Amino acid sequence: MPRTISAPRGARDILPEESAAWARVTEVARDLSSRYAFEHIETPLFERVDLFARSAGETSDVVEKEMFRVSGAKGSEEERAEWALRPEPTAGIVRAFIEHGLHVRPGPLRFWLIGPMFRYDRPQAGRYRQFTQWDCEVIGDPGPMVDAELIELASRFYADCGVRGVVVHLNSIGDAVCRPRFRQALIDYFAGHEARLTDDSRRRLHVNPLRVLDDKQLEPDIAAKAPKPIDHLCDACRAHFDAVRGLLDGLGCAYEIDHRLVRGLDYYTRTTFEFYVAGREGQQQALGGGGRYDGLVEALGGRPTPGIGFGIGLDRTVLAMAEQSVPLPASPPLVAVVGAGEDLGARLRVAGQLRDIGLRVRPDGSGRKLGKQLESAVKAGAAWAVILGDELSRGEVVLRDLLHGEQRALPLVDVAETIRPAH
Ligand code: AMP
Repeated sequence: MPRTISAPRGARDILPEESAAWARVTEVARDLSSRYAFEHIETPLFERVDLFARSAGETSDVVEKEMFRVSGAKGSEEERAEWALRPEPTAGIVRAFIEHGLHVRPGPLRFWLIGPMFRYDRPQAGRYRQFTQWDCEVIGDPGPMVDAELIELASRFYADCGVRGVVVHLNSIGDAVCRPRFRQALIDYFAGHEARLTDDSRRRLHVNPLRVLDDKQLEPDIAAKAPKPIDHLCDACRAHFDAVRGLLDGLGCAYEIDHRLVRGLDYYTRTTFEFYVAGREGQQQALGGGGRYDGLVEALGGRPTPGIGFGIGLDRTVLAMAEQSVPLPASPPLVAVVGAGEDLGARLRVAGQLRDIGLRVRPDGSGRKLGKQLESAVKAGAAWAVILGDELSRGEVVLRDLLHGEQRALPLVDVAETIRPAH
């Protein structure tokens, strides 16, 4: 026997039993994107490696460790250039914004997308090499109102999906004016504890000290006394942060200040935020996150333009819904079309007519005895069977209630009416 082939490690099949939850999260995301006046954008699943290196930063995890490279094997230099599957959507959207000259459109521009992201990380529960994000980006709005609006939007998303206990973590990491001072304060502080830092943190200490602060293995006493970004904000960044907080308070949107929340990517400025499910530990419990990136458009060759956005992990949202047993709407009742005769054409025709009136219909194409067909219908979860017999010549069928075992003849056109009020 040939050997079977399994899915690549860290990639998953989404089987039908999970699809109601996926339908819920994608419907809520689409509906909110529309009600918050975002416009849909799609970008390629792969881009040039440089795009991610220039945006996320060479020392970010996604570039340093998790890049999922794709190499075009032959052909021109362009084809041989290195590509990577996108680890995150912001860089591609900003590239598209610059490439298509979208800055001439009346802004600020608001974009959303839902799609797969790829990170070549060690897979574990809730951490996959292919996962799906709902992403919202606002380009051209310096805030602070939009910062609060996005945080409220993401909070509303979790609430609408039925996930309880989501906590918003909030921080500000300053901008080009005040970040250098903060960076230096971090370097000075951590240099004094160098021996107790992880290898990664020691290596990053002088290149990207913010990442040291965010190292999950940083010893708690060192973390507790580390310089806090909000103590180093310049006046403009402080005013921005205070305004965001005031707006969130006004909306009744609760948050916790998290001094270590710097986000993994270099391009963030000022506001950073992340969403966690309360009561559970570990990085896998981050359900989403985002922040402001006022320098990114310029760093990628566009005119200086502020931006802010978030990415929400839909896989983890679906996991949280399952853990919390969030009730999901049942599928509409299934109707089986069966018959004692051999006229398969009639079964298809009647199935079509029932679908025309909005029912969910599965015709039985087997030549088995009627009893067997009804048994299969029950096993398949059908609530009703439409049985075709001689009455069909008069436009009538027998409708059997498979849950209660009752049946009666009625005109085909009345089938939908009989089924619907019962459900
Ligand atoms: P990040 O930009 O890394 O904070 O990612 C945003 C959100 O995407 C996270 O909060 C997670 O919910 C989700 N996410 C990130 N990486 C993965 C992964 N490897 N597997 C599943 N979900 C992920």
